[in-house]
Amino acid sequence: MSDSFLPGLVADLSGQVAIVTGASRGLGKAMAEALGASGARVACVARNADKLSETVEAIRARGGQAEAFSCDVTDRVKTDELVDRIADEWGKVDILVNNAGITRDTLLPRMSDDEWDDVLNTNLRSAFLWCRAAARHMMRARYGRIINITSVSGLMGNPGQTNYSASKAGLIGLTRSLSRELAGRKVTINAVAPGFIESDMTATLGPAIVDEAKKRIPAKRLGSPVEVAAAVVFLASPAAAYITGHVLTVDGGMTG
Ligand code: NAP
Repeated sequence: MSDSFLPGLVADLSGQVAIVTGASRGLGKAMAEALGASGARVACVARNADKLSETVEAIRARGGQAEAFSCDVTDRVKTDELVDRIADEWGKVDILVNNAGITRDTLLPRMSDDEWDDVLNTNLRSAFLWCRAAARHMMRARYGRIINITSVSGLMGNPGQTNYSASKAGLIGLTRSLSRELAGRKVTINAVAPGFIESDMTATLGPAIVDEAKKRIPAKRLGSPVEVAAAVVFLASPAAAYITGHVLTVDGGMTG
């Protein structure tokens, strides 16, 4: 995360407890760092313990508080245990960012059952599990911020991504319905829909596809993980108290 971007990125989240899934690299790492720099105590969740500790070290190097929790987000039992443990040991859960996600791109006639199921399980079912586990604590506390990371693919569709687009569109439906269930308890649920962002996920696409994508982006460039993190910090902040059920695109104008 670039320090020069930090002054505009941080909100006052001191004393708050945040959980970020998929915090071991890419967008989730930037989100965890930005929330940590804003004063939140951050529970960094993913499977790769070594990469997670790099995120934790980066947060601590700026004077923030963070801990790594190695967990597969599709595991219901571990999810419930971990969210309850954080709420118990850290006192509460104020912020949940459901960011963990995967792609298994291929055209639909060639798509295997596993490629469909893996993507739906990781991107959509896990968000249901984590929302359910965290919402129980947030409802009791009458405070909470849930931010689900969807994608412009969930809004526009994308060839080769029927599984991914379906999962991300489903996440928007989950966000909108849950926002209506929990608004009266002062718990907000919003989605952030990134476009093409520099990360391992887009690096696998290769330079030809990235150059072609740039032509279709009005801003003529890929976004950076910190630009997505900025949207997450805003929606996680007290300033966003009256925003719920919203999908905030961070896409250089792609869907504008
Ligand atoms: P990435 O670099 O591939 O990182 C994905 C993260 O998810 C990693 O931290 C990974 O950690 C974690 N993860 C995946 N499966 C998991 C599982 N079963 N359990 C726990 N953690 C898991 O992806 P990214 O580009 O940062 O994308 C982050 C999110 O933004 C995703 O939801 C993605 O769909 C969305 N998004 C990205 C873009 C983009 O252009 N990059 C655009 C739109 C939306 P481990 O491997 O350590 O478990």
